[in-house]
Order: sequence, then structure tokens, then C-alpha cells
Amino acid sequence: MRDLSLLPKAHLHLHFTGSMRVETLAELAELHGIRLPHVLLDADPLVVPADERGWFRFQRMYDAARACVRSEADMRRIVAEAAADDAAEGSGRLEIQVDPTSYAPYVGGITPALEIVLDEARAAQAATGVEVGVVVAASRMRHPLEARTLARLAARHAGDGAGGVIGFGLSNDERRGETEQFAPAFTIAHRAGLRSVPHGGELLGPAHVEEVLDHLRPDRLGHGVRSAEDPRVLARVVEEEVALEVCPASNVSLGVYPTAADVPLRTLVDAGARVALGADDPLLFRSRLGDQYRIAREEHGFDDHALADLARSSITASAASPATRARLLAGVDAWLATEPTQD
Ligand SMILES: [Zn+2]
Repeated sequence: MRDLSLLPKAHLHLHFTGSMRVETLAELAELHGIRLPHVLLDADPLVVPADERGWFRFQRMYDAARACVRSEADMRRIVAEAAADDAAEGSGRLEIQVDPTSYAPYVGGITPALEIVLDEARAAQAATGVEVGVVVAASRMRHPLEARTLARLAARHAGDGAGGVIGFGLSNDERRGETEQFAPAFTIAHRAGLRSVPHGGELLGPAHVEEVLDHLRPDRLGHGVRSAEDPRVLARVVEEEVALEVCPASNVSLGVYPTAADVPLRTLVDAGARVALGADDPLLFRSRLGDQYRIAREEHGFDDHALADLARSSITASAASPATRARLLAGVDAWLATEPTQD
């Protein structure tokens, strides 16, 4: 077995607040005089059932954490630490997802909120060597017109260079909102050259995946794991070359699957889907990027060649610059060429 933290990879599914270190959250809460629910600071991952009550509980925890992010300095710290943590886990490319709406009140609007994230993404890239791109994500819980506003903001900051917006997403409870109504926002994003990276096929099954494929023309799906429940839909995902951002620990925490071994990783990979493992919200799930690769190894029996393929998939599914892509892919080959150590 080889050291997974040395395997070069790309991290394509990580939310801004959800990326926070527990210690950072505790410090920000202290700084702003906020009392947090105990479960946010203890050592255990959040586990909720996959129903609306479960999602509500998850959302409440997420909101409580987000309420501790109240300044430009807080926001910069989150991006800097996310990149540093990714670097420590072998990631050479991070695409961090943010809905600037929540932070706008503290920094003077959604435009400065996004610009702070982009500026710090540039700084974090310079400091860590991890190439950082940003995904602007709208919420299904809000009016589709708000998604259009965010798409226009994202479009104005579109760019594949350091500190550019590379994609547009849609997150939150899949049972809420009409997917079709978010199509105009994604059209705005498409026209600006942004990748379409909505969540889909997490809480809802294959029919929802098809809805997202039909209306939002995704380049990647956040999760998409439940396309495994219908071979025809999974074949369509493969055929349309939609990559899947699979987050096993998140799926277990949110009750989508009872255990990490139940996540249909093997089914997706065997069908030819391009899978990029991601941590989603390590703050709540207590499981970072490297842990997802460990799950693939320990729960799904992926050997080092198969793990290297997962890493390659994450890199090719990313919006990394050609130079970074080539460097990371060469790094994967070099990792495989090292002698495995027994442990
Ligand atoms: Zn997510």
C-alpha cells in the first residue's frame, strides 16, 4: 500500500463554511460571542436520517456554523485553511463552492463577498501551491431569480486563472424548488463559459438525475450517486460524460446510505462513470478528502491502481489549467511507480 496523502488528486466538492476546521469554528464562535450547539464541536460526525427532518437538522447545524463567519478576515481564513488542508492531503487542485449571499451582510454585498473569496483563493494558491478555483452556488431554497443574480455575478468573474470563478452550482435540499426554474441561471453561466456543477441524485433518485441532466446540462453532478439505481440513467451519465463528485462520508452522515460500504462506488466506476471523490462538509462529517480515498481502499477494496484511477478522474474532471493537469497526472504515475510499503 502506498501513502494516500502523497497521491496527487483534485478536490471538486467542498463547501466554503463546511470546509472549516473544528478549531477554527470554535475560535470564531468565541471571537464573536456566539454559543454553538455541542454537536458542532464534539468529535463525532453528524448523522441524520435522509428525510426532511434530517436535512433540517443538518441545515440548522450548517447555519449555526455559518453564523460565526462575520468578517472579511473570517472568510479569508476559511479559504486559506481549506487550501492548506488540501495541500496536506495531496490535492493539487481545489474547487471550493460558495454562496456569497450568506456573507454579504458583513462585507457590504454579494460582490465584495465573492471578491474576497477570489482574492484569497489567489493568495492561498501562491502560499500552498494548490491551484484554487471557485464555484458560485445558488440555493434551491431561494427564489430562482436570486440564482440568476448569482449567475450574472459569477459570469462577471469567470476565468480559469487563479482566483477565477470556474463553475456555477445549485445546492441544498433536492426536494425543494423546481429544477427547471433554475435553467435560466445555468444558461447565463453557460454563456460565460462556466461549468455547470449542480447537486443532483443525492437525496433523490435517478428521476431527479435525469431532470438535472435535461434542464441544467451539467458537466459534473454534485453526488449523482443515486444514478446507480437505474442502469439506463447511469448509462446516460456516462454517455454524456458527466463526472460525479462522490462524497461517501457525506452520504453516510446524511443517511443516504447506511454505511460507507453501501455507497455504490464500484457500480459507478465499473459502469465507466468518471468519479471524483470529495469531502463535501468536513466540518460536519468529520471526514476530509484523504478519508474518502481511505474509504475506497478499505470499504470498497480499491487497490492502488484503482485508487490512482480515481485520482486521475478527479484531475481530468477538474477545471485545472493544462499545466497543472499534466503535472498532477504525471504525479499519479510517479506515485504508482514508488515501492508500496507494507502496513
Ligand atoms: Zn455538497
